[in-house]
Amino acid sequence: MTYFQNNDDLLAIRESVAKLCEDFPGEYWRELDRERGYPTAFVNALTEAGFLGCLIPEAYGGSGLGIREASVILETVHRAGGNGAACHAQMYIMGAMLRHGSEEQKKTYLPEIATGRLRLQAFGVTEPTSGTDTSRTRTTAVRDGDDYIVNGQKVWTSRAEHSDLMLLLARTQPRDAGKKPHDGLSIFLIDMREAVGNGHRNLFR
Ligand SMILES: Cc1cc2nc3c(=O)[nH]c(=O)nc-3n(C[C@H](O)[C@H](O)[C@H](O)COP(=O)(O)OP(=O)(O)OC[C@H]3O[C@@H](n4cnc5c(N)ncnc54)[C@H](O)[C@@H]3O)c2cc1C
Repeated sequence: MTYFQNNDDLLAIRESVAKLCEDFPGEYWRELDRERGYPTAFVNALTEAGFLGCLIPEAYGGSGLGIREASVILETVHRAGGNGAACHAQMYIMGAMLRHGSEEQKKTYLPEIATGRLRLQAFGVTEPTSGTDTSRTRTTAVRDGDDYIVNGQKVWTSRAEHSDLMLLLARTQPRDAGKKPHDGLSIFLIDMREAVGNGHRNLFR
C-alpha cells in the first residue's frame, strides 16, 4: 500500500483534481441543479482519472491510497464548486468487502469497481423505525438453502438509481439472541441490476 507522507504528494493530488474540475464549472452544476440531474460526465471523468478507485489496493486494480488522500480529493472537488456526494460512496463502500469479503468476492468485484464498470455506491441501512441506532434494524435475512430471503423496508438510500450493487444491512438473528445489541447484524451485497425494470431503474447506464 502506498502512503503519501509529505505535503508535496498531497499538493500534486490537489492540483490534479482541481485541473479536472475546471472542465465542470459552476454553470454545469447549476444546470444539473435546475434539472435535478446526476453529474454523469463528472463522475465518469473522476473515475477515469482513477480517483474513485483510490482506496482500492493496487492488487485489486486501485491505486492503494489512504483515507487522507481520499479526503483531499473530495475536499478539492467541493472547493472547486462541485458535489462529491454524488459519487463519494464509490470510494468507500467497497471497504466492507475489502475487510470482510472472501478472496473470490474481492477478485470478482474490486477491479470492476476500480474501473467504474461496476458501481457500488448505495447502502441500505436506515429504516423508517431505525436511524442512528442501527441495532434496531428490523429487516431480516433468513437462510433458505443457498439463498437468503430478505424482508424489510429501507429509506434514504442515496444513489440507488445510480448504482449496480448495494450493500444491505439486515438481521440474521434477533436483537436479543446475542451478547450485544449489534450481534446478529449481517451485510449483503445486492445486485440491483437484476431488479431493473422490475420495480427498480438504473439512471446511470
Ligand atoms: C441526505 C441524506 C442522505 C442519506 N443517505 C443515506 C443512505 O444512502 N443510506 C442510508 O442507509 N441512510 C441514509 N441517510 C439516513 C441517515 O443516515 C439517517 O438519517 C441517520 O441515520 C439518522 O437517522 P434518523 O433520521 O432516523 O434520526 P434518529 O436516529 O431518529 O435521530 C434523530 C435525532 O436524535 C439524535 N440522536 C439519536 N440517537 C441519539 C443518542 N443516543 N443520543 C443523543 N442524540 C441522539 C440524532 O443526532 C438526531 O439529531 C441519509 C440521510 C440524509 C439526510
